[in-house]
Amino acid sequence: MSESATTTNLLGLPRPDLERFVARLGSKPFRARQLMQWVYKRAEPSFERMTDLAKAFRAELGAHACVRAPEIIDEQCSADGTRKWLLRADGSQAFEMVYIPEPDRATLCISSQVGCALDCAFCSTAQQGFNRNLTTAEIVGQVWLANRELAGTLADLARERAVTNVVFMGMGEPLANFRNVVPALDILLDDFGFDLSRRRVTLSTSGLVPQIYKLAEYSNVALAVSLHAPDDALRSELVPINRKHPIGELLAACWHYIDERNGRSVTFEYVLLQGVNDSRAQAHALARLLAGHPAKVNLIPFNPFPGTRFRRSSPEAVHAFRDELLHRGVLATVRRTRGDDIDAACGQLAGRVIDRTVVRLGSRTFGLAVQA
Ligand code: SAH
Repeated sequence: MSESATTTNLLGLPRPDLERFVARLGSKPFRARQLMQWVYKRAEPSFERMTDLAKAFRAELGAHACVRAPEIIDEQCSADGTRKWLLRADGSQAFEMVYIPEPDRATLCISSQVGCALDCAFCSTAQQGFNRNLTTAEIVGQVWLANRELAGTLADLARERAVTNVVFMGMGEPLANFRNVVPALDILLDDFGFDLSRRRVTLSTSGLVPQIYKLAEYSNVALAVSLHAPDDALRSELVPINRKHPIGELLAACWHYIDERNGRSVTFEYVLLQGVNDSRAQAHALARLLAGHPAKVNLIPFNPFPGTRFRRSSPEAVHAFRDELLHRGVLATVRRTRGDDIDAACGQLAGRVIDRTVVRLGSRTFGLAVQA
């Protein structure tokens, strides 16, 4: 997000950076904590309304700073309560986030890049190629926006419905945008930021091995890894980064992360593709890789999209696969599909903007049309 030469976007500044900024404006560093509480806990964008800050300080902030989240260009609500927001990157580019409410939590699935360069065979984001990295402001701005939108629309329920969990499972490969993702993780976890526990923030990666080691030095959030195959030949076909970083190296990095960060386990995502990776023998092979390690498997029913050659495994195959893992001592769950009616499901976050036709949504008019 571009700022003018004199205006700094406070969204996306980790606490030490914000303290330095506040000091440059001539205020004490503890003001940064107060400011963060307004920005993140109350989703307040207006310095004027930050009433416990000195008037002069508010005026300084007004002159040199702003709180600017990405702009919403479309919003869809599913019958099951899932919501998907399309956000403007720049020009004709857009990215998406998905809000998934459950009785005991509310998860926001956020994007880290516009598009993706990794070209996984079964992912619709891959089809659009890579456009650019999101900034830290655009990454944390998704959580900020969701909370603000929910507070606005669900008035009384706002407190319960605010985002409790964040997963980096939207568009993009978060570890390929390490420089902007790590400060975003800091802000998500900061007591004065979103104050989320590290177990409620999950970074999902397709397996960038060197960056997993690097992440272990900088953060301790929950780690999810997109495995999708129990052997290198098949995984290299489905997740091409495997040619560079094969399964053996990937698993070694995962166990290192757990040891180093004192984590409980790594979640291995496994999208079940009919006749490709869903046989009992493959479940057995997967169990051999993971049994005895701090691992759990999340089986994801494939979400088809136009032009894909893959098909979703039958419910019987999914259950047989899960039972085979459980039987061999590997914890496994099946992910429930949510938001199907609004294409909010895994791997559906294409977010392509196809022309500049004006679309109307309720009373709001947007200058961009989105491919359905
Ligand atoms: N790049 C990261 C995070 C984004 S994808 C990663 O690869 O982990 C989030 C998850 O959705 C990954 O496990 C991904 O493999 C999975 N996914 C992608 N396309 C899918 C599809 N069409 N159906 C089901 N899951 C899909």
